[in-house]
Amino acid sequence: RRKIGLLAMQGAFVDHEKVMQKLDCETLQVRTPEQLGQVDGLIIPGGESTTIGKLMDQFGLVDAVTERVRNGMPIWGTCAGMILLAKEIEGSDQLRLGLMDLKVRRNAFGRQVDSFEAPLQIEELGQEPFPAVFIRAPYIAEKSDNVSILATYQDKIVAVRQGCCLAAAFHPELTADSRMHQYFLDMVNQSL
Ligand code: GLN
Repeated sequence: RRKIGLLAMQGAFVDHEKVMQKLDCETLQVRTPEQLGQVDGLIIPGGESTTIGKLMDQFGLVDAVTERVRNGMPIWGTCAGMILLAKEIEGSDQLRLGLMDLKVRRNAFGRQVDSFEAPLQIEELGQEPFPAVFIRAPYIAEKSDNVSILATYQDKIVAVRQGCCLAAAFHPELTADSRMHQYFLDMVNQSL
């Protein structure tokens, strides 16, 4: 059994953990570099990206996570987690891991639409549309050629993969559909 880590600084890590446990994974809430050393893959949840970044810095996790991912550990960022994975964050110098060749735009769907749900066609997850919950969501404004697009919404890129890094602008942990968690788990299994 694989052990999946949930970066437990702030945000929706418990919801991700529940889905992973349903998929029969061992899970660990990660707050220290030592705990990070025990997991086979890491999820950075949605929440507030500036807060999560600051806490990661305080907990000594920025270099530790970066190094694990450079050595091939799969990582999945959702919403705020996606922002933290990006190299560029439009108009912000907030801390980020910069592991993916992306430029992201925060709160990109407009203040007036705080949150919404939309069915997305995601080829890698099969025929059935994926129910995506967007909450003050970012989107990907630019990406390099080595980043593959998994999903778009109204012509905006909202899910991507680059090697062992996966990112989604929405919250797959808030619906009953666990296909994206299974997809990440497959990445982890293939990495071992
Ligand atoms: N707007 C948040 C941010 O910029 C992300 C929102 C979320 O994770 N649901 O960090």
